[in-house]
Order: sequence, then structure tokens, then C-alpha cells
Amino acid sequence: MLGERSEQRGLWEADRLYLDHVGRDTFYGLLASLRGRLFRDADFAEFYCADNGRDSVPPSLLATALLLQTHDKVSDAEAKARADFDIRWKVALGIEVEDRPFAKSTLQVFRAQLILHEKVREVFESSLRLARESGYLKRRSMKVALDTTNILGRGAVKDTYNLLADGIVKLMRTLAAVEQTKVKEWAQAQGYQRHLASSIKGEAAIDWSNRGARQALLAGIVRDADRLLELSRQAQGELGEDSAERQQIVAAAELLGQLLLQDIERQSPDGDGEGDGEGDGDDGVSLRDGVSRDRMMSVHDPQMRHGHKSSSRRFDGHKAAIIVDTDTQLITAVDVLPGNAPDNLGALELVEESETNAGLPVAEAVGDAAYGDGATRQTFADAGRRLVARVPGRPNRKHFPKDDFVIDLAADSCSCPAGQVTHTMVPAGRRTDAAGRVHRLRAFQFDGAVCRTCPLRPQCIAAKGRKGRRVLIHPQEALLQQARALQQSAGYDEYRARRVVVEHRLARLVHLGIRQARYFGRVKTKFQLYLAATVANLTLVAGEIGLSDSVGGGVETHRAVPSDVNDVQAVSHGVAAHAAAIFGAVRLGQLWSQILFASALLPKAPSPSRAFRPGF
Ligand code: SF4
Repeated sequence: MLGERSEQRGLWEADRLYLDHVGRDTFYGLLASLRGRLFRDADFAEFYCADNGRDSVPPSLLATALLLQTHDKVSDAEAKARADFDIRWKVALGIEVEDRPFAKSTLQVFRAQLILHEKVREVFESSLRLARESGYLKRRSMKVALDTTNILGRGAVKDTYNLLADGIVKLMRTLAAVEQTKVKEWAQAQGYQRHLASSIKGEAAIDWSNRGARQALLAGIVRDADRLLELSRQAQGELGEDSAERQQIVAAAELLGQLLLQDIERQSPDGDGEGDGEGDGDDGVSLRDGVSRDRMMSVHDPQMRHGHKSSSRRFDGHKAAIIVDTDTQLITAVDVLPGNAPDNLGALELVEESETNAGLPVAEAVGDAAYGDGATRQTFADAGRRLVARVPGRPNRKHFPKDDFVIDLAADSCSCPAGQVTHTMVPAGRRTDAAGRVHRLRAFQFDGAVCRTCPLRPQCIAAKGRKGRRVLIHPQEALLQQARALQQSAGYDEYRARRVVVEHRLARLVHLGIRQARYFGRVKTKFQLYLAATVANLTLVAGEIGLSDSVGGGVETHRAVPSDVNDVQAVSHGVAAHAAAIFGAVRLGQLWSQILFASALLPKAPSPSRAFRPGF
């Protein structure tokens, strides 16, 4: 059943006793001041049985613990230890010093529930709600900036030999579980023991400089995979159509099948390619040349992809996409994209989500050149939205680029660097844009007779034929022309400045650990990103307006705590008398120790500074 925290604060809760010692201007002090405001237990009621079982750990406490874990970048085991023994966590959680609030598994189950019920977005939204309630986010509309950064995936990246072995092991485990056998025994019975080694390549005692030996090893692995797939098909036939076990086998078999398909090339028995080469028994299989477009590189996290942030920066994992309100620097929406996806994937949806989360309309969105393609501009224009993004720079080519021609769409004319003007338009094929729309292209055609006699021809036309220069009209030519005009104007400086804001917020998220995924898969990585964005927003709001001292029901409570040691001692005598009647001598002894400890810690007056220390 849902366990709820009492609205009445206990006298011996750590935030009453040690708040100033820990620091009101720290993240721990901030969470203490927001207790009861940021999360309410009732918000998580759907996780629990309504009328049966023991009271749970209050979910508001667990949600706070997840934020602390993100802030401190610690494991589940360390989070549990800090909740038990770290006074800063106890202050933030608002528990008593001797409390041990949750087990590690409780935190893990709560996290799983948040993911399962898709509630983490609500946790994130609470940071924006707080920004609104505190007056930090009070504009009528937002100007947002979009950007992405890479996230290194959690799964181990393997070469093809070990990747196939991992896929084989995964399917073996599923089949062994169905037969209620240990995977080791199952593998032994079927002759698959070598795949259970930490590296099949390490176990293979072959001469790696011998191509034939490599081919034979690969062929053996593929043979094992094929035989295992056949066994899995037989196992599926013996299970019910909708049984969970069958679905698990199908998923593992599909994964192995996909690995074979992406990395292995098979040749027909009468083929004359590599497969018939020097290795005996290579079955005509060989490693596929190049990298498949959507190649999976980890069995443990099949959603990881090879990605490029630039021509020189390659990574394996996912992409974090965020939107930031450039006036307040608040992160208003996040998403996790495949590592090989373009940055602009789902940009419009992210803008729309941003509006929902923040409760404010977006007046305009700013992005870098990755958002400046014609298809993205058209998508935003069709939705009636303004997108400001740089048009990619002119390529360093030998001949006049298109930018050197003046295209007037209203007059259907094109002027060349030599001052010639053409009104002739010709068809120029079709193009499918990133959004899947097919466009019929047109081009301005200069007269061949004019170009033949032109002194600039060597700089303009590569071909030696008799035709004149052709200038392609982009399907979104008008939008690109508007963008070019804006980026050449003085007003564009404002957008450059706004775009920098999102880079700063990405740097903050990286500081909070999002460069490395903590979990497998994009859904859980998005969970991590949401929590990091929540912490980033909370510390931002607190830093900007001194939140930990100025808002919330906690304010009165905290200010009621005397900071002067004499006051504390005076109060403590009176409290002790009441406590003795309530708790008895043993409990009183513990309370006295807390009071004396608090007295020793509290002589320093709280810092008059309201500056927040987000990095504390
Ligand atoms: S070659 Fe033709 S299109 Fe090019 S500059 Fe000369 S006249 Fe203009």
C-alpha cells in the first residue's frame, strides 16, 4: 500500500537539526526546503495496491533519493549507504539520523515503476512547475534553442566474432531457461561451451595472421548460430502462440538473425568468391565489407548505434536532444535519439513537448546548421512555427557555387557572376527529403551559346560540352533564401547568443553524468537524462533566486530553527522535558545526543550569502 509522509514535521528530523550545518545554499538544503512541494506521495499512488499489503516507503522520499543519486553520481548501493549514514542526504530526505529509509532493491523497484508508468516526465515537470511558482519562469512565451550531444552507450561493444558469440549466448540462456536447465549444462549438452568464454577470440588458439584459420573460425561460429536458430524454431513450435517464453525466444532469435544479416556475407555453394578461398570448411561465409547502415554493435544494448558528432568525432551509443528556454536557461524538454540519427530528428515534436511541459507557447526556435536543412525548415513552416538555423556554408569547390548566383523566385530569374540573366527553367529530376517527401526538382538553365563565349567559363563549368550552366532550385529555396538573408544581417547576433545557451546547458548535463549511459537501452537512458535535467533546472532556479531560503512550506520551518547555539540549547531543554514523557529514558538518551551534537555544530550563524552552490 502507498505509504505517505505526515505533513507534520518531526522534531528530530535531520533538516531541523543540521540544515545550517549542511548548508541551506546546497542542493541538499534545497531539497529539504522543497519537501512536500516538489513531490507528493499521492502522485505515485498508481504504483501501489490500494487496499492490501504493508505501507510502502513514501514515494516522495524515493523520488528525492533519485535526484540526490543523480546529483552525487553514485550507484544504487552507495545511494542506500548515503541515505543511511550521510547527514547531507538525511537533511535532504528529511529523516531522522538513525533512520535507514530504504533498501537498495526498493530504490530499484521504484525506478522501474517510474519507467514502466512513464512518470519520470512528471518528475522533470516538477522542476518547471517550481520555476513558474517561484516567479522565475513568468514570461508569456519562450524563445528556445535546440541541440544534441552524444551519450556513450552502456553495452559492451564487440567485434563480429564476439558479437555473434554474445547473440548465441543470449539465445542459449533463453532456451535453457525454458527447459529449466542451467545454461552451462545446456551448452555442454549441445556442444556450445566455447561461446560461454569471456572472449571466443581469446579462446580460439589460431594463427590470426592466417586468413584461412580466421575464415574457419568464423564459419564455425556461423554454423553454431544457424543450428541454434533451428533449435529455437523447434522450441517455439512446442510453446503456446502467446506465451511469454515463446516471445522471449523469438526476440533472442531475431537478435541473432539480425547480427548474422548485418555482419556476415554468404555465398552460394557454386560461387567463386572469398568463401571458396584458402580456408577449409568456410561454408562460403565471410565478413561483410563496410558497416551496415543501422549496425547493432552490442547484444547487451541492441539500441546503441555508431554515431558521429562531427567528421572526426565518432561514438557508440545514443544522442541526447534537449530544448532550452534561452531567457531563463531552463531545460524544457529532452529526448534520446539513436546514435546514428540526424540531430534534427523529432525537432518539431520536441518543441511541442516543450510547450506542454512549460505551459508556455514557443515564439521561435533556434538551432545550429544541423537543423538548417530544407526539410526541417519546411516542417516548421507547415506547422506555422519560426525556426532560425544557419544555412550550411558554401563548399570549398573549384567552380562558382550556387551562392554566387542571385535567384529571384518572384521574377523567375537567375543572375550569374558574369551578369547574365536567364528565365529558362528545366526539369532536374526528383529528390526525397529527410521527411520522406518526394520533390520534383527544377533548375535555371543558362544558354549554352552565352556560356561558351564567357571569359568566366573555366571558373563556372567543369564540363567541356556545349551546354550552359545549370543552377538547381532547392525545393525549399524561398525558406533558404530568407535564412541566408537573416544570417547576413546584424540582427543575427542575437540568435548566435541564444544558441550558446543550449550549449552551456548541455555542458551542465554532461557535468551531471549524461556523457555515459548508466543503463541499457534508450528508454532507461532517457530516464537518466530526465533526472539530470531536473537536477540542472532545480539548481539553476535555486541559484538564480535563492530558492532554498525563499520559497516553500519549508521556509517557515527552517527559519524557525534557531541558529544561535544558546537558542538551541534553551529550546532543547524544554523539548527534552516533553520528550521524556513521550519516549522514555532510552529514547531520551538518543535525543539528547542529537541535541548536543546539533549544539556543537550550530554555533556558526548561517551564511548571509544567498548564492547557491550547485556544484557542492
Ligand atoms: S559560364 Fe555562363 S553562367 Fe557561368 S558565369 Fe559565364 S555566362 Fe554566367
